[in-house]
Amino acid sequence: MNTTEYTTKEMKDFLANMKGKYDLARVVDPTECRILTMNDNGQFSLGERCYGIWQSGQRCVNCSSAIACKTGCHREKNERFQDQIYHIESKPVKLILADGETYDVAIELVSIRKEEEVTGHVNERALEDISDSAIRYLADYDTLTSTLKEESFYEKTRAMLNHEADEEWMMITADILQFRLFNNLFGVEKGNAVLVGLADQLREITIKNLGICGRLRGDKFALLLRKKDFHEEPLIKAAHFMNTHFSSGVYTLCVHFGVYEITDKAIPVPLMCDRANMALRTIHSNLNATIAHFEDMIIRQGLIEQEILSSFEKSLEDGRFVIYLQSINNPNGKPLSAEALARWINEDGSVIPPDSFIPTLEKASFIHKLDKFVWEQAVRKLASWDNDLTLSVNISPKDFYCLDVYDVISSLCRQYNVPCERLRLEITESAMIENPSKVYPVIEKLQNAGFLIEIDDFGTGQSSLGLLKDLKADVLKIDRAFLRETENTRRSQIILQSVISMAKDLGMQIIVEGVETSKQLNSLISMGCECFQGFYFSRPLPIPEFEEKYLAVR
Ligand code: C2E
Ligand code: CA
Ligand code: CA
Repeated sequence: MNTTEYTTKEMKDFLANMKGKYDLARVVDPTECRILTMNDNGQFSLGERCYGIWQSGQRCVNCSSAIACKTGCHREKNERFQDQIYHIESKPVKLILADGETYDVAIELVSIRKEEEVTGHVNERALEDISDSAIRYLADYDTLTSTLKEESFYEKTRAMLNHEADEEWMMITADILQFRLFNNLFGVEKGNAVLVGLADQLREITIKNLGICGRLRGDKFALLLRKKDFHEEPLIKAAHFMNTHFSSGVYTLCVHFGVYEITDKAIPVPLMCDRANMALRTIHSNLNATIAHFEDMIIRQGLIEQEILSSFEKSLEDGRFVIYLQSINNPNGKPLSAEALARWINEDGSVIPPDSFIPTLEKASFIHKLDKFVWEQAVRKLASWDNDLTLSVNISPKDFYCLDVYDVISSLCRQYNVPCERLRLEITESAMIENPSKVYPVIEKLQNAGFLIEIDDFGTGQSSLGLLKDLKADVLKIDRAFLRETENTRRSQIILQSVISMAKDLGMQIIVEGVETSKQLNSLISMGCECFQGFYFSRPLPIPEFEEKYLAVR
């Protein structure tokens, strides 16, 4: 446990600083039950009985400061006298004396409230008796780090936001980079010491500023502070402390913070934490960054989206969008088909993957322009090949609103004289579920014309099985997320096996996406799969490379 050390001068300054924030800030020796008075030179004397303030004639049952000193952890407790509740936060510290020796004492930060005031307030525990308060403490606080447990943190945050409705607040989350690696390298005991160390640092910030601190899970902590008390410097100092105390030659300990200014107090508290976490993730792999703000992230994202939208149409006209082809293979590696996937080529020749621009194009209802282009490229390619390969293209849910999908696709096949059977149409599960009345009739018309309909990303939606009941699609593309899970769990394998058997019984072809290893391939073959798409066979390739790899040998 690393208990903070203070000189008597620092301690006096600290107490002075706490004056306006608490009704009482003092240092006590909990074994003697006495209040300490100090000068600036490391000398002290024992003063009045500490429990005298709540008019108790004897030492307190379960004294929070005694437990704090014994365990090295922050403790809280309530005492009551007449209609007053004394909420005591006890923090164990070491006082450095004139002779250089240290002396174990506790800082007590006391808030005094009238009983009726604390109802519904964060200090609602004050209404309970002392033993209830001890039980409640265990229920509310994480035993390892003495910070609030996740649910209690959410509850107390909500209570504080409601109670001080005019106040402005900040939600901060903290996370240790690659903490799992630290645990693997040094063991759980050292890992726990890191968590306690970080919790101490964070609690120091919240105690000084009357905020609260909780451990959400694992190495993820959250802090609630008033906006006026929020400063980046203590966070940076805490990260620096952790970095210097726990890094080693093989591991650099790096703490990151995400900050969300609570502009909308009505949203659920976990969502506030998510927003802080979203900001945090933007610097997750950056060893040099410490703090990221949600607001900055939104502004940055907005700028990126603006840039995408403003340059999209010109890029399409200038031929800076191309299609890559990724093969779909049989167990022996023979290509049966391929999926056309969009790529945006930067001015410097670098390739931008679709995940960076497709969500933005979808949001702005621009995606149909790109999809129409991709469909035409695919159909032209099919027309140019002298073989029986088929190609599949993606249809975005938004396309059904912006285009007559049936008319555009069937016209393209007519124009290039390509049989409809050679173009496969991938529609995501979610698109089908979101608006069945719009999508189903179009799908039926396309199927009647001879196009093969594939349900894309199967297994990621909400009602995958229900979909199979209602829609007679021809092909089921099982999402790669499904495959990731099956590596470890027997249950997932059983589910996957059932989906495969069911799809077969329904007369559907199955393609499993994301096959990366021979182990996965063999396991899927044993389950009865015959078509695979994944890096094990090939990544998506520029058309010339795809043709060289596959068409030369066919
Ligand atoms: P998708 O339709 O599920 O396409 C398959 C994605 O999985 C491709 O990513 C492919 O590179 C990736 N993939 C294939 N095998 C593996 C594997 O073994 N391991 C891993 N980790 N990934 C694999 P890509 O090309 O980045 O496309 C991402 C998504 O973007 C596509 O997911 C699709 O939803 C969308 N997309 C791509 N092109 C278009 C398009 O022209 N129109 C529309 N509407 N969406 C498109
Ligand atoms: Ca797809
Ligand atoms: Ca897919």
